[in-house]
Amino acid sequence: MAKKIVAGNWKMNTLKDDAQALASEVVNMAKDEVPTDVTLVMCTPYLHLANVKSLTSHTSQVFVGAQNCYDKPSGAYTGEISAPMLQSYSIDYVILGHSERREYFKETNATLAAKVDIVLANGMLPIFCCGEVLAEREAGEQNTVVSKQLEESLFHLSAEEFSKIVIAYEPVWAIGTGKTASSEQAQEMHAYIRSLVKAKYGEAIANDTSILYGGSCKPSNAPELFACPDVDGGLIGGASLKSRDFIDIAKSY
Ligand code: PGA
Repeated sequence: MAKKIVAGNWKMNTLKDDAQALASEVVNMAKDEVPTDVTLVMCTPYLHLANVKSLTSHTSQVFVGAQNCYDKPSGAYTGEISAPMLQSYSIDYVILGHSERREYFKETNATLAAKVDIVLANGMLPIFCCGEVLAEREAGEQNTVVSKQLEESLFHLSAEEFSKIVIAYEPVWAIGTGKTASSEQAQEMHAYIRSLVKAKYGEAIANDTSILYGGSCKPSNAPELFACPDVDGGLIGGASLKSRDFIDIAKSY
């Protein structure tokens, strides 16, 4: 069975004190309200990771993730953060291939393959984002786009390596737009992604792979999305900045 995961992508939001308050609220509320079989992840800006990690030290339900990392282990790459650095702070997850990184920072499927490798080599779990833009959806090309993203960035992995991957399907037209994919659209793509994983790695790994939906997910639509058989959770942007909303989403299974 795939693990149920609700991950918050804080993006470039929160100042020092906001981050402290938000993370403390999430940890406290999770303890009282969220079933123990649901894993929560807070993916914060780099600067807040160490502090947020220390706030989660006494829980085994709430984990901490970065939103990116560089594909080289160290060296003269001014301004970048490496996977070994994140590992040295005991960071658990790393989001890779978010559509904003693909668009604004020109990340390609090939760069992402290298990032996936270095994150795994440093003992962390990639949350690998895939998804099509609106024009691709309108042209009926969503399956081709997503299968290419998976093939070029993930399918070089061994079965053992792949079993550490979390996939987040995020239709780009639904991110931050208030426009959610319908539960039928989400289920259709998630089932397709699982079929690709099955064809490559077999049924057991396919069934154990967590496939999260992302894109304007909120407390009001999470129950319907999470009820889909192939939707194992969510990658939450805007709604992860409010502890009440984030926790309510995590209670939606
Ligand atoms: P959103 O963002 O929930 O604000 O649409 C999701 C994401 O980009 O991960």
